[in-house]
Amino acid sequence: MSISDKIPDVADIVVVGAGPVGLYLAAQLHEYSPKGTSIVIVDRSTGPSTLSKAIAVHARSLETLAFLGPQSTVARDMVMTPVNGDKGVIFGGPMLGDAASGPIASIAFPPADTAQSPYPFALVRVQSHTERILIADLERRGVRIAWDSGVTGLHVDEGSDATHPVTATLNNQHGIKCRYLVACDGGKSTVRSLLNIPFPGHTRSDMFWMADVRIRTRDGRTTTWGADPTSRVARPPTMSSSHGVILVFPLQTTATTNDAPLHRIVALGGDEQAAQWRDGTSGAVQDRVDKDTYIDKHTGAAAGVAPPTLAASSAVQ
Ligand SMILES: Cc1cc2nc3c(=O)[nH]c(=O)nc-3n(C[C@H](O)[C@H](O)[C@H](O)COP(=O)(O)OP(=O)(O)OC[C@H]3O[C@@H](n4cnc5c(N)ncnc54)[C@H](O)[C@@H]3O)c2cc1C
Repeated sequence: MSISDKIPDVADIVVVGAGPVGLYLAAQLHEYSPKGTSIVIVDRSTGPSTLSKAIAVHARSLETLAFLGPQSTVARDMVMTPVNGDKGVIFGGPMLGDAASGPIASIAFPPADTAQSPYPFALVRVQSHTERILIADLERRGVRIAWDSGVTGLHVDEGSDATHPVTATLNNQHGIKCRYLVACDGGKSTVRSLLNIPFPGHTRSDMFWMADVRIRTRDGRTTTWGADPTSRVARPPTMSSSHGVILVFPLQTTATTNDAPLHRIVALGGDEQAAQWRDGTSGAVQDRVDKDTYIDKHTGAAAGVAPPTLAASSAVQ
C-alpha cells in the first residue's frame, strides 16, 4: 500500500510525531473534540519505537494518562497489561544498598488509604510499552498513524479564509491540508525550525551514565535484581562508593525472557557527589530509612483501576 493510500489529503488536525507526547495528545484531541473531527498522526519513523528510553512513570503521569475518557484503559493498562510478557514493576520505599551499607536511601510514597493519588507509586516501564499502550488506544478510536511520513515542508495561508489553511508536505511529496497542525516532533522539532519558532530557555547540565544490560551471576544464573518474587514490586539496588552512586532498575523478569533479564543501570555523579551523599549535604540520603509506607498496604483503591497483585508483606524484602 502506498503512503498516499493511507494518508488523506485533508484532515481537521494533523499531529506531527508519534512519540509519547503526540500519541497522548491525539488521544485527548479525539476524546474532547467535537464528534467527527478527523485526526491524523504522521511520523517519519518506519514504525513504533522499540527503545527503552524513559523508564520511570510517576504518579502524576499515570493520573494524566487517565484523562482519556471513561472508555480508555490506558492508565489501567500501564499498571496491569503486559507487553511482550512484561508489566513493569512498581517501586518505592527503601532502596536496597550494598551489603556493607544496607539501604542508603528511601523513596517514600504514602499508603493507599491516605494517598491523594489513585496511583501512589512510581512504575518502572520502558517507554516503548507506554507508546504501544497509547497506540492500542488510538487504534480502538480509529485514529490513524501514518509511518514513514516525515514533514519536510509547511505552508500557512495566513491571509486566506480557507477552512484548512495549513499544508504539510511529507517526505514522499504527498501534501496534507489541515485546520490545525500540532508539533510533537521532539526536542529537535522540524516544525519549529520550519516556522522559525525560537526555543527559549536554558540547558541544564548534569552528568550521568546509563546502560541497559543483561545480568547473570558468575555461575551463570539469571536473576531479576531488585524485584520481589511476584516480579511486581522492585527496590532498585542502590550502591554508593567514592565513585558516585549506581542505581539498578529491573526492566524484565526471569519469567518473561529466555535470556538474562534486562536491567537499566544509572550511574550518577563522581567524587564530589559521593562526598555529599556521605556527609548528608546532597539532600538525597536520609539517615533514617523509612519503613515501608505503601507497598505492603497498597490495596489499589483507585477508582476504575484494578490493583496490581502485590506480594504479602512477608514476601517483600
Ligand atoms: C536513552 C534515553 C533515556 C531517557 N530517559 C528518560 C527518563 O528517564 N525520563 C524522562 O523523562 N525522559 C527520558 N528520556 C527522554 C524521553 O525519551 C523524551 O523526553 C520523550 O521521548 C519525549 O517525547 P516526545 O513525544 O516529545 O518526543 P519523541 O519521543 O522524540 O518523539 C518525537 C517523534 O517525532 C517524530 N518526528 C521527528 N521529526 C519528525 C518530522 N519531521 N516529521 C514527522 N515525524 C517526526 C520522531 O520519529 C518521533 O517518533 C530519555 C531518552 C533517551 C534517549
